[in-house]
Amino acid sequence: MELKISKVDTPGKVQDDSELPFGEIFTDHMFNMDYTPESGWHNARIEPYAPFVMDPATMVLHYGQTIFEGLKAYRTKDGKIQLFRADQNMARFNRSASVVCIPKIDEAFALRAIKKLVSIEKDWVPSAPDTSLYIRPTIIATDPYLGVRPSRTYRFFIILSPVGAYYPEGFNPVKIWVTDKYVRAAKGGLGEAKTAANYAASLYGAEVAKKAGYTQVLWLDAVEHRYIEEVGTMNICFIIDDVVVTPALTGSILAGITRDSVLTLARHWGIKVAERPITIDEVMEAHKNGALQEVFGTGTAAVISPVSHLAWHDEVIQIGDGGVGPMAHKFYEAITDIQYGRAEDPFGWVVPVEEDL
Ligand SMILES: *Cc1c(COP(=O)(O)O)cnc(C)c1O
Repeated sequence: MELKISKVDTPGKVQDDSELPFGEIFTDHMFNMDYTPESGWHNARIEPYAPFVMDPATMVLHYGQTIFEGLKAYRTKDGKIQLFRADQNMARFNRSASVVCIPKIDEAFALRAIKKLVSIEKDWVPSAPDTSLYIRPTIIATDPYLGVRPSRTYRFFIILSPVGAYYPEGFNPVKIWVTDKYVRAAKGGLGEAKTAANYAASLYGAEVAKKAGYTQVLWLDAVEHRYIEEVGTMNICFIIDDVVVTPALTGSILAGITRDSVLTLARHWGIKVAERPITIDEVMEAHKNGALQEVFGTGTAAVISPVSHLAWHDEVIQIGDGGVGPMAHKFYEAITDIQYGRAEDPFGWVVPVEEDL
C-alpha cells in the first residue's frame, strides 16, 4: 500500500529533554488513514499534525467505538532509534478492533507507518535517561449517525509525544487502593480491549482512591469481588514464596506486553511463574505469614511500578520495607536495558527504526 508524505514547512521546537511531561507535547506530523466499506482501509498519509473537524453526530463521540495502542520509541546511546515488541502492539490492536466491531488493519503496513512516522520525527526522540517518544495509534468511528450500530466509516491515526518518566515521583513505590465497590470490567465485556469505555469506567473509583491518598486502584473481578484483576493502566505481579504470581488472562484484563516480557524473563532466569486466579484474601494472608515479598505493576508507561502499600477494607499493609524490591529492580533493569540497547536482546524484541525507509 502507498503511503503519501507531506511535511511541514517549519518544524516545531524540539523540547528540552530534561523536563518532559507525559502526553502534553506532540510532534510536527501525524499518520492518517480512512476506512469505507467500498475502499477498505485507504488513503494512508503522513501529514502535518492538525485537529480534526467533526460532525457533532460522529459516532465515536456518542457510543465510544474506538480503540488505541501505546508503545514507545527509544534512543540508544549510539543515537539509533528502536521500538520494543511493536508487532505485539499491532496484533493486540487488531484483537481490540474485533471486540468493538472495528475493521482490522494490515499489521505489517501499520508497523511500517509507525517506523516511517518515527523516522521523519527522529529529532523528537529524546535522549535523556528514561525518556522516550510515546506512540499512540488510534481508530475512531466516524459515521455521522445517532443510531446504535457499528459505524461504516473509520479514521486510523497515529500521533507521537516525547515523554519523561510516567510517574512524577519517578521510580518510586506507589500506594494502591483495592476496591470491591467499583468495577472496571466484567467477563464477556470489553476488559481485554484497549478501548475508551474501560478508562471511563475506571475514573470514578480512581478519584475516590486519590481522595483517600492512593495513586491508583487495584480492580477485583466483577462477580465475586475477590479475584485480583489489574490496575487502571498496568497489570499486577506478586512475588510470593519466590514465585512470580499474576492473574491469568481470563478475558476481563488487558494482555499487557510488559506483563508478558516479565513472565518471559522470569522463565528465562529459571524463576517459577504462576498465571492463575489469585484472591485479595490470599495476598493479605501471604502478607501475614511473611510469604509476600513484592508487589509491582507492569506497563509500557512506567515499565515496572513497585507498590509500597495496599489498602483493603480497614487494613493497610506495607510491602517489604516499602521500598523497591530486588525482583522489581531486576525486571526493570533487564527490560529497559533491552529497550535502550544497553544489553543483548535474546528474545528478538527490539525493532530497529531505520532512517528514510
Ligand atoms: C495498556 C494497558 C496495560 C499494560 O499493557 P502494556 O502492553 O504492558 O503497556 C495494562 N492494563 C491496561 C488496562 C492497559 O490499558
